[in-house]
Amino acid sequence: MNRIDPPPPPQHKRLARANLAAPESRPQPERPERGFTGIPVSPGIAIGPVFGAHEPDPVITRHKIQAADIAAEGARLDAAIVQSHKQLVKLRARLAVLPEESQSEIAPLIDAYIRMIGPSRLIRGVRQRIEETLLSAESAVISEADEIAAAIMGQAEPGMSTEDRAGLRRRGDEIREIARRLVRNLTRAPFRSFAGLPEGAILVSESLRPADAALLDPSRLAGVVTEEGGADGHTAVMLRALGLPSVLGVAGLAQVMKPGDIAVVDGIAGTVILNPAPPALAAARRAVTAFARERQRYSRLRRLPAVTRDGHPVEIQANLELPMELPLIVQSGAIGIGLLRTEFMFMNRETIPDEDTQAESYRTIVDAMHGDPVTIRVLDWGGEKEIEALTLAGVVPELADTNPALGLRGIRLLLRRPELLETQFAAILRVSGIGPVRVLLPMVTTVGEVRAAREIYERVGRRLRRKGERLPEKLPPLGIMIETPGAALSADALALEADFFSIGTNDLTAYTLAVDRSESDVADLYDPMHPAVLRLVQFATEAALRMRMPVSICGELAAAPKMTPLLLGLGVRSLSMNASAVPKVKQVIRSVDIAGCTRFARRVMEQGDPERIRAMVEGFGQGAE
Ligand code: PEP
Ligand code: MG
Repeated sequence: MNRIDPPPPPQHKRLARANLAAPESRPQPERPERGFTGIPVSPGIAIGPVFGAHEPDPVITRHKIQAADIAAEGARLDAAIVQSHKQLVKLRARLAVLPEESQSEIAPLIDAYIRMIGPSRLIRGVRQRIEETLLSAESAVISEADEIAAAIMGQAEPGMSTEDRAGLRRRGDEIREIARRLVRNLTRAPFRSFAGLPEGAILVSESLRPADAALLDPSRLAGVVTEEGGADGHTAVMLRALGLPSVLGVAGLAQVMKPGDIAVVDGIAGTVILNPAPPALAAARRAVTAFARERQRYSRLRRLPAVTRDGHPVEIQANLELPMELPLIVQSGAIGIGLLRTEFMFMNRETIPDEDTQAESYRTIVDAMHGDPVTIRVLDWGGEKEIEALTLAGVVPELADTNPALGLRGIRLLLRRPELLETQFAAILRVSGIGPVRVLLPMVTTVGEVRAAREIYERVGRRLRRKGERLPEKLPPLGIMIETPGAALSADALALEADFFSIGTNDLTAYTLAVDRSESDVADLYDPMHPAVLRLVQFATEAALRMRMPVSICGELAAAPKMTPLLLGLGVRSLSMNASAVPKVKQVIRSVDIAGCTRFARRVMEQGDPERIRAMVEGFGQGAE
């Protein structure tokens, strides 16, 4: 798989303890061991009982509709059928990665679901209920499914074998399951709840939005497995921040797991073993211990400076997705926050946070850094980052664009709705007196966007000063993310407008290679080592260096220790990453010299084949350079 190994998670000790001690971690003899593979996104080994997190069953009020709305209700149902069909067909296609035996078990079930939303009794009945009894589509789905399931169970006869009875129950459950999928697609349930999650469990879910991941409590959960998702999607970023061993893009697990099953999640290898037999379980336990030891070894680097062997200092900062990471950042040895993603403030709430609320959050973070710099990125809405508060406030449309990643994302939305930007600028500026702060604009593609944002920034600064707010004499630097090929290739012009660059290799990779970063189907094409991506990084870095302007990398590439020599060789001297990656990257920095890295980078940048680059990067330090 073309991927950079993500760095280790922070909760290793607790996980190691919890998992090793898990008394229920004994395989059930009657349950066969099965292996699954996926995309490793957050390292660590977790052992625990599986917990299937379906979307919450939405609360359905059994309301009636007006006769005039029958057609509209039918259209809603059609859309939900189409959506459900798409999901199932995709799932069906992805089963191909499973062993033959698992495929033959799961595929017929998916096929049955697909049939049930075709011209079936269920769908005919639902339409009839909408038309004749004026039920809303979701009420009609539930009523019809309940009736069919009850009729199936009604076929049970006295004297019927337990096996036959179980078969009827299974069919009834299947009808209810497909009904739940339809209802989920009919009602966009706002927030998920993980309240029922048993302690030490492995969460298994079809998909997990970044906002859902933000609700997970890493002290209660052992690991995460999902069917959807890509290596550097925002969900993956969030899971790494939480330090939860996670494997995404795992097809088939949710379909075969049963309550009481145990799983081993290997977030380094990208494997999941359901009901491990004793040898696999013993190996997993050894891996947990080894992982914890490795983490401990790295933690000793915390206090040592990030300086190359030939004396070049490198700035290592941390990315922050959730305030709960603050203690880890402080302990990691990172000098400040290089990317504060402010989306967390807007997630899982119904209203947009006001200026005071935002200022309070920033104050806590800036205070916690005790004088180390904090780069605050203004809201980057769009792509897979759904934020209900913005939808509820009517700031963004309820229905996603056809191509959300290419739509009104980041700075584009903020300039369309300048009141959002003004509020956030004001909240940031209000804390700029208590510590070194920088402000970062996401998804910039043109110089006009930077100029327009700066105009607002300065206006907000003037307004605050008029109101008596004590701001630093010079407003904090206003920088931009370089995360589109357009921005990277206009770096010369953008460097005249911006005060600093932060290169976001996650989106830069996605946009350069036309690969959705959170899509499991194309995950093998998502490759930050592609020469096109590296050339854009090089181009933007050199443009900044020519202008003597600060430039850093804050995408996941910065967290990959094997990439560190190449990035240093390209001239990068500032990296921002998830806190748990800091020691490994620091270790590499301390082991190389810049002259060697520069020679290495020159050779790498002559290559056109990502596989060759990968081989060179892997071979660095083994004489291959
Ligand atoms: C990036 O795109 O690399 C980045 C750091 O921003 P985000 O992951 O939040 O989109
Ligand atoms: Mg980005």
